[in-house]
This record gives sequence, C-alpha cells and structure tokens, in this order.
Amino acid sequence: MPSAITHAAVGLALAPAFWRPGAPRRLWLLGALAAAAPDLDVIGFRLGVDYGDLLGHRGLSHSLCFAALLAAALLPLSRAGPGFSPRRAWLYLFLASASHGLLDMATDGGLGVALFAPFSAARIFFPFRPIAVSPLGVHAFFGARGAAVIASEALWVWLPAAAFAALSRATHGWPNRPGCRTRRERSSSRR
Ligand SMILES: [Zn+2]
Repeated sequence: MPSAITHAAVGLALAPAFWRPGAPRRLWLLGALAAAAPDLDVIGFRLGVDYGDLLGHRGLSHSLCFAALLAAALLPLSRAGPGFSPRRAWLYLFLASASHGLLDMATDGGLGVALFAPFSAARIFFPFRPIAVSPLGVHAFFGARGAAVIASEALWVWLPAAAFAALSRATHGWPNRPGCRTRRERSSSRR
C-alpha cells in the first residue's frame, strides 16, 4: 500500500474537480477518510484473518463494491443538501475510496487487490507497478526503505495528484477557502 497520508492526499486531490458553490466543506474531509479507510483491514492480521481471505488485507475493503457502500454510508455525514447535489457528493466519495484499491494495484509488493470482490476473489495488479510498496506499521517507515517509499510516492502519486488538483482548480474556480463563496459569487449577490 502507499502510506495512509498519501491515500488521503489523493482523496483531497480529487476535491477541486467536484467542487461547486454550496459544497459542504466537511465533504472533502470525508473524502480523505474514505481514501485511507480501506487499510483498516490490517486489523484482520491481529484477528487471525489470512491475507488472501475475502476479509484479508486488500480484500473486500479494497473493492469497488465496498467503495460504493462506504460512499453511501458517509453521504449523510457530508450534509450535502439542496445547494449541492447528493449524487455528486456520493460520486466524489466513491471515487476517493475506489482510488485506494487502484493505487494499491500499482504497487510493487504484497498480494493483489480484490477489486471486484465479492463477485470475484481474484487478486489483481496493473501490468505497470511503479509505486514502492509501503511497509505495514509506522516503525518500518524509518530508514532506507521508508525513504525509498516516500520518494516513490512523491514521484508517482503526489506529483500527478498535485497536477490534477491544480488543473481542476483552474478550470472549476475552486475558491481560496473551499466552502466559502468565490469573489465572483459575492459580487454578483451584491448586485
Ligand atoms: Zn491498501
């Protein structure tokens, strides 16, 4: 897996593409959580669940099906209301969570991702896997391996994510303080 912070950052990087006036600010926080949440499945290691099981690491929690359900569960917390389409909020949360499994499929270690669970138990990877797999646990992050992972994530995840976010900001009019009205909106409401 890329690290939890990197997964959360990808969830946030998707935000400007979905921003619209009236977007609830908490939606972006939920998106970051949804993007990092699938790795909570590592709890299974302590409970004796095998890595390759449906409920094992990179199993059901990393599937598109789980992403859809998690998005539906988080949607009420986002307070997406009449000013911001709940359908749009759900789609953002779904893609944020689904991005996790897709990123893991581009890592160079561990088992593949059960992207289509529970309909298929197949563990799959992308043919091109440039992202160095992140060690499980914080302690393993220190040292040469940790530095290599950070460098790999910076190049293959942070850089493209930042470029995507910047492009989306430029094209969607994301305000400096998301959740606040843009200058154009304020001046038009004064008229
Ligand atoms: Zn993962």
